[in-house]
Amino acid sequence: MVVAIDGPSGAGKSTVARMLAERLGYLYIDTGAMFRAVALAVRRAGVAPDDEDALDRVCRGLEISFERDDGAYRVLANGEDVSEAIRTPEISLLTSRISTRKAVREVLLHEQRRMGSTGNVVLEGRDIGSVVFPDADVKFFLSASAEERGRRRYLELRAKGEDVSLEKTIEEVAARDARDERREHAPLCRAEDALLIDSTGVSVEEVLRRMERLVRDREAARRLSAGGCGDGFCGNVEGA
Ligand code: C5P
Repeated sequence: MVVAIDGPSGAGKSTVARMLAERLGYLYIDTGAMFRAVALAVRRAGVAPDDEDALDRVCRGLEISFERDDGAYRVLANGEDVSEAIRTPEISLLTSRISTRKAVREVLLHEQRRMGSTGNVVLEGRDIGSVVFPDADVKFFLSASAEERGRRRYLELRAKGEDVSLEKTIEEVAARDARDERREHAPLCRAEDALLIDSTGVSVEEVLRRMERLVRDREAARRLSAGGCGDGFCGNVEGA
């Protein structure tokens, strides 16, 4: 089973994708963190965000992996824990710039497909259901009003001690979304067969409940079409 969760910044994707994966016992892949890790490497290498050859070199020299440590997800770039360093407003801005570049998207597309090929995986991003796994078993497009998304991002940054203003954060989130939606390669869009969930004013628990129900239904349908009875007891019945 491949579960795709796409949507704009601050829609709550990371929170629900992580929790959904935990409930289902699936692997969780945060593709935004992969683009962020590339942006950090690009900044450290002093590469111009529009130099495709240099971007390609940086991407190919970078090994990104995820690690679960005491309930927290860590992002590693060539073995270094970059989980905090990739979440600053500066890296968010650079990420949205370099993620428009073909060189970056191609390398990460390959990597995301490789990581997801193990199956039983929840991937979150902008183009999972439309480009990375267009045949995903379940697709969600999670959204929320622009004000709500900006406010969530603002609270997140303030909790980390970043000196940001609410107005500026809302503006930055809107600018990032506009760039993600308008870019030429793999723009942010809702796949036709993705279930739209608006999380404005809806609790995380409620969003999760809806998502989990749909995934469980698909799992059951899959078992049925694979010749099972769908309730998980076929093996026992046959063996009895
Ligand atoms: O999800 P997150 O906010 O961490 O993503 C950071 C940026 O990475 C997004 O604004 C977007 O530009 C880029 N991204 C992307 N495709 C994805 C995931 C993220 O272009 N699948």
